[in-house]
Amino acid sequence: KLSKRLQLVLEQIPYGSRLADIGSDHALLPVAAVESGRAVAAIAGEVNRGPYEAALRGVAEAGRGNVISVRHGNGLEVVQPGEVDCIAIAGMGGALIASILEDGRRAGKLAGVTTLALQPNVGEDILRRWLLGNGWLLVAEHILEEDGKIYEILTAVPEQQASEATNDSLYAERILEGGQVLCSRDTLLQMGPWLLQAPNSVFMEKWQGEIRKLEGILSSLSRSELEAAELKRVEIKAQIKQIAEVLE
Ligand code: SAM
Repeated sequence: KLSKRLQLVLEQIPYGSRLADIGSDHALLPVAAVESGRAVAAIAGEVNRGPYEAALRGVAEAGRGNVISVRHGNGLEVVQPGEVDCIAIAGMGGALIASILEDGRRAGKLAGVTTLALQPNVGEDILRRWLLGNGWLLVAEHILEEDGKIYEILTAVPEQQASEATNDSLYAERILEGGQVLCSRDTLLQMGPWLLQAPNSVFMEKWQGEIRKLEGILSSLSRSELEAAELKRVEIKAQIKQIAEVLE
């Protein structure tokens, strides 16, 4: 049975996709995608030998070797241009996911891809910034808690594929009924436009935790009289204020 986290990544994959799961480890996601009909064929990519072998075993044990190809290589290197229409990358940092996508983009591996299902462990803002800067539109964001950890799942489609209606509710600004802009672009990228629009209890918990962390740093800095510490204090106070304003 899939973890709640991987189940939610799975649900981002459109039915009938040709899927590439990069950093697949035990190939749990491609196996579940094929078994549920979300993928008609899949590639499980792994750069490390141990997880690559685990993926080979996972696919063999599920008896899906005919539709899942397990490949050893770095990022999107294992995919040929035009071979897949959905790419999943889960369980890595946002910066690493962004760099895998960037290398793939340069090598033409994103041409024809219509869905990205991404689950960064940290650095969600870096990933959102990459998507925004490269013609990808966030169409959904999810946040969940499992085993005491909080995870975010970002789903993106090429800009030209999205309808105009989705287009203007995103990224540009967070505009409320009164036309009031509630937060900066940085905050939007950090916290997520869709998550901000419909904050759930996990989202509140994540950012209240972030405030507590920043307050902890602030109190340890308060003992120092150095000018650098004062600058840092000002910066952290501003961060706390920014988050708190949005949570209100
Ligand atoms: N995707 C699975 C999940 O979400 O449960 C496994 C996540 S595991 C924490 C991260 C996996 O990514 C590791 O197996 C690692 O070997 C693989 N990985 C890291 N960098 C990679 C890269 N550049 N290309 C392919 N795989 C990579």
